[in-house]
Amino acid sequence: MGTGFRAEALALRPEIVERRRDLHRHPELAFEETRTAGIVAAALQELGLEVQTGVGKTGVVALLEGAHDGPTVLVRADMDALPIEEENAVDYVSTTPGKMHACGHDGHTSIGLAVAKMLNARKDEMRGRVKFVFQPAEEIGQGAPAMIADGVLQNPRPDASIGLHLWNTLPVGTVAVTAGPTMSAADDWQCVVSGQGGHGASPHETRDPVVAAAQIVIALQTVTSRNIDPLDTAVVTIGVIHGGSAYNCIPTSVELRGTLRSYRKETQELIHRRVREICEGVAAALGCRAEVTITPITLAVDNDPDLSERIAAIAAEVVGAENVRRDVRTMGSEDMAYLMDDIPGCYFFIGSANAGKGMDYPHHNPRFDIDEDALAIGAELLASAAASFVLPEG
Ligand SMILES: [Zn+2]
Ligand SMILES: [Zn+2]
Repeated sequence: MGTGFRAEALALRPEIVERRRDLHRHPELAFEETRTAGIVAAALQELGLEVQTGVGKTGVVALLEGAHDGPTVLVRADMDALPIEEENAVDYVSTTPGKMHACGHDGHTSIGLAVAKMLNARKDEMRGRVKFVFQPAEEIGQGAPAMIADGVLQNPRPDASIGLHLWNTLPVGTVAVTAGPTMSAADDWQCVVSGQGGHGASPHETRDPVVAAAQIVIALQTVTSRNIDPLDTAVVTIGVIHGGSAYNCIPTSVELRGTLRSYRKETQELIHRRVREICEGVAAALGCRAEVTITPITLAVDNDPDLSERIAAIAAEVVGAENVRRDVRTMGSEDMAYLMDDIPGCYFFIGSANAGKGMDYPHHNPRFDIDEDALAIGAELLASAAASFVLPEG
């Protein structure tokens, strides 16, 4: 059992854990990852790699050139933390008030560096190259686009993109590799319903945006229940409703805001069209006017089927076939999607929960923590998956 990287991953385990704990103690928010980027760049330079810093503001890119020509595989790890006050009582607790690695990106960064070390040791046999991408600002969905704007997908353009997320809804020792759409496209939407304000005792002299907004909220529920194919998947959420300032006044406008999620581009377009039609049509029917703004946040993570098969087979060697899930999907989002757009990619989940140790809080929770056994598993799988492109016998 095990891949060609089992022994190395286990040997590197203490180093991966130590680095993860160091990063955990010093969380940095989106586009502020300067300490983290410095550690990453130094570790990559120590391996003798060609390192570029400041890619997408605080991103780091390193190219590992094999001795022989071949394809380029992009390996991505994200580096940013969240504006959350940590509530864990561990000796590696965040030392920065109000900031916390509550999504596991500290683990991703330390895994990425371990993978660079493991693959670098095999560069003499390597056919092709590995582009290591340490990405900032995943949590705000802007890090990947910023790195792409700075050319991360050029010179050389990757033939494939892979990456992983530590995943606290799966127990440690399990891995999920799902073919097709795995994480959702996300759009921020906003609707301002404008009417004519007036006295609450004289509604007939107003055009009431509160009533129009209420009808819009109800009518929007029909997008998923009546417009989307029941076998397809989508979410229309209204997270914000603001309007009015006095109990006896009818306000001039009401603001609605929320998130739209979908797996397929056609579905996304359908949702956009229906949200606009419903907001504008319902508002107009009630004598008001609706102005809808839709802002894209990320694309869907759509895993290449062949690549997913291949990585699932490798995962079976890492954790045993019975511990590989092929059906884990979420309507959560990831800007990894941009690094996989038009490039065959696979983004997979490494189970990191351990309920027995109290390490099963959800991502973004102040008590989020991972079972660190997941780190060596992630490193072995990511190294083996990358190696399947560039090393003749993995
Ligand atoms: Zn997150
Ligand atoms: Zn994350």
